[in-house]
Amino acid sequence: MDTIERADKYMFKTYKRYPVVLVKGKGCKVWDEHGKEYLDFVGGIAVCALGHSSSIVTEALKEQSEKLVHVSNLFYTKPQIELAQFLVEHSFADRVFFCNSGAEANEAAIKLARRYANEKFGGKRNIIISMEGSFHGRTMATLSATGQKKIQNGFDPLLQGFRFVPFNDVSALNRAMDESVCAVLLEPIQGEGGVICPDKEYLQEVRRICNERDVVMILDEVQVGCGRTGKLFAHEHYGITPDIMTLAKAMANGLPIGAMLATEKFSDSFGPGTHASTFGGTPLVTAVSLRVLKFIVEQGVLENCIKMGEYFKNGLEELKKKFSFIKDIRGKGLILGMELDFAGDKIVMKCMEKGFLINCIQEKVLRFIPPLIIKKEEIDMLLECLDSVFKEI
Ligand SMILES: *Cc1c(COP(=O)(O)O)cnc(C)c1O
Repeated sequence: MDTIERADKYMFKTYKRYPVVLVKGKGCKVWDEHGKEYLDFVGGIAVCALGHSSSIVTEALKEQSEKLVHVSNLFYTKPQIELAQFLVEHSFADRVFFCNSGAEANEAAIKLARRYANEKFGGKRNIIISMEGSFHGRTMATLSATGQKKIQNGFDPLLQGFRFVPFNDVSALNRAMDESVCAVLLEPIQGEGGVICPDKEYLQEVRRICNERDVVMILDEVQVGCGRTGKLFAHEHYGITPDIMTLAKAMANGLPIGAMLATEKFSDSFGPGTHASTFGGTPLVTAVSLRVLKFIVEQGVLENCIKMGEYFKNGLEELKKKFSFIKDIRGKGLILGMELDFAGDKIVMKCMEKGFLINCIQEKVLRFIPPLIIKKEEIDMLLECLDSVFKEI
């Protein structure tokens, strides 16, 4: 049996995978088991911000794994504290809770918002408003909070207390607001939803409405945080700060970690015994995450992201002028989407044949989320590849 046949025999069929077995990577390149090279514009789904086999990660892993890997949260450990301090000093937040994934970070945020509201309003407020087209994870609470039927199908009964409104629509949000609402949960840019960027005024209005009603504003920055948009956090583009923010994907460049950040007003509602995670914030992952985030902030990664993002977007716009089936180009920094008027699968497959990894979401949107260290020449190569693929169809 070859590798793929064995995978099909022994593993759950939860993933629709591309027929390649990747065995190694360096920078923005990966290689499959037959030695074929690919330029990677998926980057582990917005995870590998510093690229593959980054020496930043390898060195931090080596150093910390020789010292201390895990001891549980019954004890203090230094890397965890340092990472929390770094996150607080670089954000709106006063406190950090560590977990292991985006879904878990959102679970924590949902729990914290409910607990705050229950304490403050005596159980009268528990509804969380979430957005159509959103994505918040696959656990029962986070899929209940996700505004996509295909993700909820077959898992009834869903968790109660979520109310959905269209994204980027202030009046819909106003209509959905009443005395039972405790929080608004949204992504500053919808990633899985098709790279949808809201208006600046929209997020500012959400902030204002939440302030007015003492409703918790939760931003899910699992995908677009940690430098993806050219700022450390995406909400910095919009001139607002949330009350609670969740992070995961790129935090440790591929090691599993998530975090929930909040201001003091809300963090106080989680006292001893209210929430926990065995693996949350181990010395190993937090040591790696601190090095990764420091590198992103201090070594010009954000600047590269802005510059390359603009260059890339312009290149995609040029393609749009040339091919009428390209409906829209959108995104910020290095999360870019190209909407086609037909299903994008075959484009993904043709790019793969030519040695480029891209992905397609919501059937018609090609999404580009390469490592943030990508170079101009690498973007040029992808643009050329897309041009030739588009000419062939
Ligand atoms: C990926 C993602 C999640 C879920 O993260 P997991 O680590 O897969 O649980 C949640 N929210 C957003 C915006 C995401 O992109």
